Amino acid sequence: FNTERFGQHILKNPLVAQSIVDKANLKATDIVLEVGPGTGNLTMRILEQCKRLQVIEMDPRMAAELRKRVQGKNEQRKLEITIGDFCKAKLDYFDVVISNTPYQISSPLVFKLLSHRPQFRCAILMFQREFALRLLARPGSELWCRLSANVQLYAKVDLQMHVSKGSFRPPPKVDSSVVRIVPIQPPPSIPFEEYDGLTRILFSRRHKTVRSSFDAKGVKLMLEANHKTFCSQHELPVKVKNTAAFNELLDSILLSSTYSDKRAAQMDVDDILQLLHAFHKENIHFG
Ligand code: SAM
Repeated sequence: FNTERFGQHILKNPLVAQSIVDKANLKATDIVLEVGPGTGNLTMRILEQCKRLQVIEMDPRMAAELRKRVQGKNEQRKLEITIGDFCKAKLDYFDVVISNTPYQISSPLVFKLLSHRPQFRCAILMFQREFALRLLARPGSELWCRLSANVQLYAKVDLQMHVSKGSFRPPPKVDSSVVRIVPIQPPPSIPFEEYDGLTRILFSRRHKTVRSSFDAKGVKLMLEANHKTFCSQHELPVKVKNTAAFNELLDSILLSSTYSDKRAAQMDVDDILQLLHAFHKENIHFG
């Protein structure tokens, strides 16, 4: 029984379990997704309130226990159990996602949900507290980071509740928090790899100036290579003759963007998008 590998900390506090499900404001017509149902403490409550529920559980023993729990009940026909790794699973349509998440896949889980189309309406997710606080962080605050900026490009995140270690069996080493994630509709049209490529550079030194983040080893050479590839793919002339000229172009874009002396720690999503557009206008790409 490998509790740590699967992050199997079962939610034993019935009030917390009910409250997580209630935060989703489910409608009787909703199709719901649950990741990592475990023995079904959230699952049974979700089933009472929805039309259909797809659960994805990696541990076949947990899935078997859950199957037993619904056996012969009315809810059984609403439930579809998929055994496997959520990160590799094909997702069907869902309106709402609810999960006491396996903490070892927090980040891929969030981005898999946010990139799913059509967009879901609402997610109620429990994470390790530190991770939840980074999802919630606002520009200028201590915890504002690449994760915050990347997630908040696509969604509004708000805190629902803190949950203490004692609500779980076995109790995990860390505290937990529940957040609500509501996708921004329609989603921004910018390709994620582009935005993510820029935030990777900006937040590698979040307290340094943007200009100095671009001075980090390898950054300018990578952008120059991307620029050449982009121009040749789109049959555009490469105007810069050599690396020195390319670096001058970068500096001039940064200066006229007005972000050169700003710090990532202070930049919000719109600032990052504006800077990205300034580079795209000159055919400089990050993805
Ligand atoms: N939902 C239950 C509850 O609240 O009591 C259990 C939550 S427990 C924190 C996480 C669950 O996710 C476990 O049942 C574990 O087996 C499952 N799990 C771990 N990694 C997974 C993955 N990659 N894909 C799907 N399920 C996973």
